[in-house]
Amino acid sequence: MKTVGFIGLGIMGRPMARNLLKAGFAVVVHSRTGSKVDDLVGDGATAGGSPRDVAARSEVVITMVPDTPDVRQVMLGPAGVIEGAHENLVAVDMSTISPAATREIAAALAERGVRMLDAPVSGGEIGAIKGTLSIMVGGAAEVFEQCRPVLAAMGDKITHVGPQGHGQITKLCNQVAGVLSLQAVAEALVLASKAGVDANKVIEALSGGAADSWNLRNQGPKMLKRDFAPGFFVHLQQKDLRLAMELASQLNVPLPGAALIHQLFNAVEALGGRELGVQALVQALEQLAAMKVSG
Ligand code: NAP
Repeated sequence: MKTVGFIGLGIMGRPMARNLLKAGFAVVVHSRTGSKVDDLVGDGATAGGSPRDVAARSEVVITMVPDTPDVRQVMLGPAGVIEGAHENLVAVDMSTISPAATREIAAALAERGVRMLDAPVSGGEIGAIKGTLSIMVGGAAEVFEQCRPVLAAMGDKITHVGPQGHGQITKLCNQVAGVLSLQAVAEALVLASKAGVDANKVIEALSGGAADSWNLRNQGPKMLKRDFAPGFFVHLQQKDLRLAMELASQLNVPLPGAALIHQLFNAVEALGGRELGVQALVQALEQLAAMKVSG
């Protein structure tokens, strides 16, 4: 596999495509915004005119777009990947989308001989830049093995979970666990700040103990600096929580923690935070506690 197509050059897609270039793959890129394509071309990628064009020129085509309708459109829509189908093509969707829709998209691609993996990721923008993403994969084992070198250029923890859709289900579990840990950090920092303790010291003291977490180390300092720039948009987190709760409802599984945080993010959105990073969750708690965290 020499040529990898990459569609969706957003916060995650840009650094992921760059890491493919660094690993020596020829990379054909496409995004809706021309300037994002130009940036990658400056790094050594080739521009593809449409998802169809990218697919026709690649052995593996990766999608990293926001939501289920976007993946459906890029894969199956006019000038989509399906129109560039060829015998050796594998489609790898690394976005976070509905597991059921993933199976439908994979079935439609399979009718044209295209094999598919669902391979969503965790690790945030930082993980995408460093090439240390955790990648959770659903699909046939032989297709996974064939794509392993491509995935290894972007992540350092690559798990083949099971058949098609199981990567997406795993990612939804990740989102449930991740958002509860984010809430834990926000609550601790609100309490510390209102009690008059140096919240930076609280982060330092908690790191390495039983309450340590990725969110504590990465999102905690941003909350204290009031740096709400997006690494992961609030509106995309809300999309993931909706997907998790949809799956849970089908299975009669209660997700009380995730449901509560979904509501708190509604408050963040009401405060104008839709395009902020998810660390803005602290703003909802600040409103309730009538204070602001500080370091
Ligand atoms: P983002 O910054 O909004 O990027 C998404 C990109 O998709 C945009 O750059 C957009 O292109 C492109 N796009 C949308 N529709 C398209 C289409 N029809 N054709 C071509 N390109 C299209 O979002 P992101 O943060 O990178 O997230 C991407 C996916 O990864 C989402 O499913 C998200 O849930 C998941 N994820 C994100 C993170 C994170 O920390 N950010 C972590 C793990 C997983 P233009 O900008 O050119 O319009």
